[in-house]
Amino acid sequence: MDEMPKMPNYTPEELMKMQEEALKKAQETWNKLTPEEQAKATAEAQRMMEEEARKHQEMMDTISRISAQSKAKETAQDAQKPKFCPNCGTPVSGGKFCGNCGQAL
Ligand SMILES: [Zn+2]
Repeated sequence: MDEMPKMPNYTPEELMKMQEEALKKAQETWNKLTPEEQAKATAEAQRMMEEEARKHQEMMDTISRISAQSKAKETAQDAQKPKFCPNCGTPVSGGKFCGNCGQAL
């Protein structure tokens, strides 16, 4: 299969030059803006950043909620597992005392 599109193969120098030019262009565009437009663009950038932060926070909340849910599930499963007497280690199924040694559970 030789039909794979070739990736552009830039040298680090070329990449650096492209980055510089992009920055220069951005700076030129910025300088052409009126102070009002600059303030608007700044506010817009700020709003976008806040939106990103909000999305990020939502994602983190979702993750911690799912994590808490799965933890609660694990705890519930643990509760159903047979317990062992802390005194003699005999498996006990419910009840307040160990059937082997009488240890309070
Ligand atoms: Zn016991």
